Amino acid sequence: MTIRIKKGQTGKSILNTVIEMSGVDLSLCYQCKKCSCGCTVSNHAKSPPSEIIRRLQLGAGNELLDNDLIWSCVSCETCYARCPMGIDMVSVMDALRRMAIERKAAIPEGNVPLFNSAFLKTVKFFGRTYDLGLMAIYKIGTSSYVQDADKLPLIFMKKKIAILPSWSANRKTVKRIFKKASHGK
Ligand code: SF4
Ligand code: SF4
Repeated sequence: MTIRIKKGQTGKSILNTVIEMSGVDLSLCYQCKKCSCGCTVSNHAKSPPSEIIRRLQLGAGNELLDNDLIWSCVSCETCYARCPMGIDMVSVMDALRRMAIERKAAIPEGNVPLFNSAFLKTVKFFGRTYDLGLMAIYKIGTSSYVQDADKLPLIFMKKKIAILPSWSANRKTVKRIFKKASHGK
C-alpha cells in the first residue's frame, strides 16, 4: 500500500510526542508487516498497525488520532511478539489513545472509550478490575439499563461474575501508578 501525506494536509508531526510517551524507538520499524499479519483486529479497522507506524514516521499529525485501530486494539501483544525489532505496539497504542483523549481528537463511533474509562475507574478504585462495577458504570454511561439483563441470573449462577468486589492488597501501589501516569501526561 502506498501512503502519501501531502505537506499542508497534516498538523504538526506527533511522532516525537508518541516516542516520548511510549518510550518506543519507531525509527527501528522497517515495515516487514509481520505485526499487521498477526493483528487480531486490523481486518476490521481502517489501518493495520504497520501503517500506523509508517504514517507516524512520515510525519502524520493529529489526523492520525481518529484512526479506529487505536480504539479497537485489544492489547493482545501479538504484534509485539512477532516484531523482529521488538517494537512495543501496545505502548504506542496507549500513547495514541491518551493523546486522542487529551487533544479531543475525533473518536470513532461506539462506546470503546467509555468502556476503557469504566475499566480504569474500577482498577483505580479496587486495585483490580471489578466486573459488576464496570458493567454498572458502562450501563449508566450508555443508558442501556435493561440490555442483556436477562442473562445476569445465569451469569451469577455459573459464578462467571462475582457480586462483591475483591479488593487488591496492592491498592496503594496501583493508586501510585495512576498518579505517576497522570503526572506523565
Ligand atoms: S513487525 Fe515490527 S518492524 Fe515489522 S512492520 Fe511491524 S513494527 Fe515494523
Ligand atoms: S496489540 Fe493491538 S495492534 Fe497489536 S496485534 Fe493486538 S490488537 Fe493488533
